[in-house]
Amino acid sequence: MAEQLIISISGVRGIVGENLTAPIAADYGCAFGTFLKDKHGSQDRKLSVCPVRGTKISNGVCIGRDSRPSGQMLKSAVAAGLCSVGIDVIDLAVVSTPGVSVMVKHLGCVGGVVITASHNPAQYNGIKLLLDNGVAPPADAAAQIRQYFFNKHFIPADSTHYGKVTSNDQTDATHIAKVLAIIDKKTIAAKKFKVALDSVNGAGGRVAKKMLAELGCTVWAINDEPTGLFAHPPEPLAENLKDLCEQVMAEQADLGFGLDPDADRLAIVDENGTYIGEEYTLALAAKYIFSKRTGRAATNLSTSRMIDDIAQKAGGQVIHTAVGEANVAAAMLEHNCIIGGEGNGGVIDLRVSPVRDSLVGMAFVLQLMAETGKTISQLVGDIGGYYMIKDKFAVEHSQVQQILESAKNEFAYAIDSNIDGYRFVFQDGWLHIRASNTEPIVRVIVEAKDQPTAQRYIIQTKALVH
Ligand code: MG
Repeated sequence: MAEQLIISISGVRGIVGENLTAPIAADYGCAFGTFLKDKHGSQDRKLSVCPVRGTKISNGVCIGRDSRPSGQMLKSAVAAGLCSVGIDVIDLAVVSTPGVSVMVKHLGCVGGVVITASHNPAQYNGIKLLLDNGVAPPADAAAQIRQYFFNKHFIPADSTHYGKVTSNDQTDATHIAKVLAIIDKKTIAAKKFKVALDSVNGAGGRVAKKMLAELGCTVWAINDEPTGLFAHPPEPLAENLKDLCEQVMAEQADLGFGLDPDADRLAIVDENGTYIGEEYTLALAAKYIFSKRTGRAATNLSTSRMIDDIAQKAGGQVIHTAVGEANVAAAMLEHNCIIGGEGNGGVIDLRVSPVRDSLVGMAFVLQLMAETGKTISQLVGDIGGYYMIKDKFAVEHSQVQQILESAKNEFAYAIDSNIDGYRFVFQDGWLHIRASNTEPIVRVIVEAKDQPTAQRYIIQTKALVH
């Protein structure tokens, strides 16, 4: 049976040619465009590209894509949908997801679109939406866009007000400038770091190489052609980054960076060729930020407590949100957080953009190494760590709530949060149990001081599921 098109808070994702086709993409463009016209009160006139920033005329929508071969087709279809309802489109071509978010703000656009399926295999693609603040739509806005899409509630432009498409090739330069503005380029450059890079032939290779070169690094890049022909499964996990680990060893590099296809996630390999795990990406970035500033951080409920330890030591505080980048970004904006992100290698600094950004992650890690004179393995040793198990159980939709209730009763004494399933905090660890947003699956994340303790919590939870 063909999989269903997944329509979630951040957009749509599906298998190209099966449930994600050009007509569907065009309809989605029409729905998003109509929503933007409603939101910005411009049903009767075109939202057009404005030659002078800061005037009251709103800009159009900028659109970028990762390197998948289906990206050009889907991008053209979404752009056609937007133009048909009277919205101008700025084509950014192959760029990272954070790059699009940066350009939405930089160009003063009313929204952004990224054609990407992130870390999913090549047969997938997706359409990710951003509002004028550079963040994915909140739940109510996402629901409205979904309703417009299903009901085909599109308000076409009249014959003189169709949108037009223009190009902009300034994403890399703009993005890099924003990242370099919040670090000390000279300190990093003086170290002449040797960096191995695997961008999985995605959208991040070109911009990452440029930024690392500006930071005085010597870069050994593998899989750095933006062909979308992924050299290995594209999720930046240990089992997929063996070539990067070997590259670090072969070139005696100081570290290795692994990106996912749209370059919002960053995994790190230490100087011994050891993959350190994506949870450490945010921890290292937080360690750098909290060495400079005091304030709040935001992560989701499933993220390692390493960041809590780091914040606590620096007199800071961590806000825990429901899982999902948009939730973390919303909390960061609300509480003016100095750092945020998720345990999947996603680092957010609002001074650059409100989305996860591998460029920010790379820059902070290099800055931390340069200032402390320590290697990645030494920095990881300083942070310490916990034992984490991420598990999932396939269940019937009807059982999900029952299982969550059972967990709540079992661990009632330890409830820490109920905003996204339940999170329980124990003396020796924590457990987060939640329903997947997209599949009939219950996810369980446990972090404890050691493996037997983590395993014990998993076994207890499994008993509830059965
Ligand atoms: Mg991604």
